[in-house]
Amino acid sequence: MDTVFLNGAFLPVAAARISPLDRGFLFADAVYEVIPVYGSRLFLWTPHYARLERSLAALDLKNPYRESDWHRLLAHLIEVNGGGDLSVYLEVTRGTEPVRDHRIPADLAPTVFALTQPALPPDPALEAQGMTVVLRPDFRWQRCDIKSTALLANVLLRESAREVGAGEALLVRDGCVLEGTSSNVLALHGNTVSSPPDGPLLLAGVTRDLVLELAEQSGFRTRRRTLTADDLGTAHEVWLTSTRRILAPVTRIEGRPVGSGRPGPAYQRIRAAFQKRLQAFLEAPPPSA
Ligand code: PMP
Repeated sequence: MDTVFLNGAFLPVAAARISPLDRGFLFADAVYEVIPVYGSRLFLWTPHYARLERSLAALDLKNPYRESDWHRLLAHLIEVNGGGDLSVYLEVTRGTEPVRDHRIPADLAPTVFALTQPALPPDPALEAQGMTVVLRPDFRWQRCDIKSTALLANVLLRESAREVGAGEALLVRDGCVLEGTSSNVLALHGNTVSSPPDGPLLLAGVTRDLVLELAEQSGFRTRRRTLTADDLGTAHEVWLTSTRRILAPVTRIEGRPVGSGRPGPAYQRIRAAFQKRLQAFLEAPPPSA
């Protein structure tokens, strides 16, 4: 995982250099994506790329490459890093400016960076016992729909969960549980899987959308609706979704068990449906073949 992409070049991470006057460094004037790779191929590319375009547009940042160029350069990065199952992290900043200035200069060349990360290993404790989470007041900004690198609030909130032995903090604003610090939240009541509606206060998760689709295909009803802490308290199952962890069962919220207090049968069904979808992806010929 040693080779990174920076501004058109593939080079060892130790040789990659970015100016301290890069606006990504100075102002977090930057967006990013994390895309899963299975069998050396980008999975769910289309929705991840669409979200990158939305994030860039929200910052009024010009997309530095065409979609096919992005795809080609990331495929090469995956190959030179040994391929297999991993994820790609990519970041686009507004670029390096001559002097530090809040005002956005015209015509900066964006900084484009990408690296690969190994896939997370399976977590038998998570599979067997599920995850403990806590609730925290959401003190992030009001454009959480943008996949911005300004993640300090997410980092501090995640840390506050870790300090009390929890795996994630669910963020609450005006009584609504919106999402985790790096995950979306879904709740099962009876046969209905619910997740909060999209809007400026949460990130539209690609994994969440796939899980909702798989839930429908598996015979569940799905709903987009606001979820309160009480809604989570009465849920039979609660799950978190994210690109790297895929689907995680939540079995304790603020010390209280969710449903049976164990990863539930619906979780197992959706997990199996995900594996089936992944198998179909791995067996399908690549689009270019
Ligand atoms: N919300 C936040 C705040 C996140 O950081 C992430 C992970 N990037 C998600 C949700 C999940 O999104 P995805 O499934 O597309 O990785």
